[in-house]
Amino acid sequence: MGAKARVLRLVKSPDNQTASSDLQLPIRTCVGCGAKRPQRVMLRVASYKGAVPVLDRSYRSPGRGAYLCCQASCMEQAFKRHALERSLKIKPGGTAALKAEIEKVLADSVNAIKTET
Ligand SMILES: [Zn+2]
Repeated sequence: MGAKARVLRLVKSPDNQTASSDLQLPIRTCVGCGAKRPQRVMLRVASYKGAVPVLDRSYRSPGRGAYLCCQASCMEQAFKRHALERSLKIKPGGTAALKAEIEKVLADSVNAIKTET
């Protein structure tokens, strides 16, 4: 282990502007709608050894990861069906804080899209 640099990357980071360079992005499946998309346009939720899942903005947190499209509908589906818990192999529940955080990120990214276009 040792000292590890923790890079918190917001969804609307400047990196997203280089959209032409998403050639070899890993493809992930949304646990809400089942769509396959490049990892970088999705939200990653990570749970390390069964711990309470957290939103992983760096895409590098250890443990199992589950992905969601940046869409409220996918998030709603995922929470309604406990898809995150199933995907992360953790017990249902304890995701209220996570849901609130994702909702905030989604709201922020929607605002970002509105102002950019
Ligand atoms: Zn989705």
